[in-house]
Amino acid sequence: MSYDPNNIFAKILRGEIPNDTVHEDEDVLAFRDINPQAPVHVLVIPKGEYVSLDDFARDAPAEAVGRFFAKVGQIARDLGVAGEGYRLIANTGRHGGQEVPHFHVHILGGRSIGPMVVKR
Ligand code: AMP
Repeated sequence: MSYDPNNIFAKILRGEIPNDTVHEDEDVLAFRDINPQAPVHVLVIPKGEYVSLDDFARDAPAEAVGRFFAKVGQIARDLGVAGEGYRLIANTGRHGGQEVPHFHVHILGGRSIGPMVVKR
């Protein structure tokens, strides 16, 4: 799947849509989810154009992948959720329920997040 430069997170990165930023640096942007599912619900996205975790893990330099996850950990600590714990989610592709085709992880915390997957 090729990268769609008009996806909503690309527009956020270009400053075309406002966001509630909690952290920004040269590699990543972290901002609060517009429809929070927990007291803390933050999305972390790389600034590079990667469609999904599959794309990022395959195509980004290993150093960039490592740096991204180190930053996710630091952001969770800065949000104050690392002590009690949190859930990291990377919905990937159609079966993963990914809605926005720019790689992102969800940090969910501030309460017990509950069962990992609801059985259907
Ligand atoms: P996913 O299903 O993993 O692709 O999740 C996409 C997430 O992006 C959802 O949790 C949405 O609530 C969130 N979202 C969509 N538009 C925005 C926006 N403009 N600002 C912040 N979060 C958004």
